[in-house]
Amino acid sequence: MHRILISSCLIGNPVRYDGRGQALRSEILDRWLAEGRVLAVCPELAGGLLVPRPAAEITQGAGGAKVLQGLAKVMDTDGRDVSAAFLAGARQALQLARQHGIRVAVLKQGSPSCGSGYIYDGTFTGVKTAGQGVTAALLESAGIKVFSEHQLAEADAMLSQS
Ligand code: SF4
Repeated sequence: MHRILISSCLIGNPVRYDGRGQALRSEILDRWLAEGRVLAVCPELAGGLLVPRPAAEITQGAGGAKVLQGLAKVMDTDGRDVSAAFLAGARQALQLARQHGIRVAVLKQGSPSCGSGYIYDGTFTGVKTAGQGVTAALLESAGIKVFSEHQLAEADAMLSQS
């Protein structure tokens, strides 16, 4: 049975920067949980950040690949460079995925770690921009398909093929 990597906040764990979770209500997720397929990870906690923590965004909305290349930073609202924690958490998520032979992930859209289709533009003004978070970019570069919480049916289809 293939397992699936899922953002911890999506199964309701209170790991977000604001101390809350963001539980998904979904029959597909319920089935994955009942089947014991779900492996939850919060890359930001895995990287050593705390709950609650200041919000963070990638500078100029440059995207996770640029952070991985050292060409952009992740900054928080206190002006702290938290890139090292985001990179460490991304590497831990990838290591976990590899340990379990995971090919499919469902990660929280919009997050500077987990976003797969959009992130925020680095100005902390709520402006979205197309791009990936640091963990999503690292997983995809390693051949793991990353879906958002709005694409569970697609993720389910790929899981059943893998
Ligand atoms: Fe959720 Fe990912 Fe943010 Fe952790 S880093 S709170 S798993 S979106």
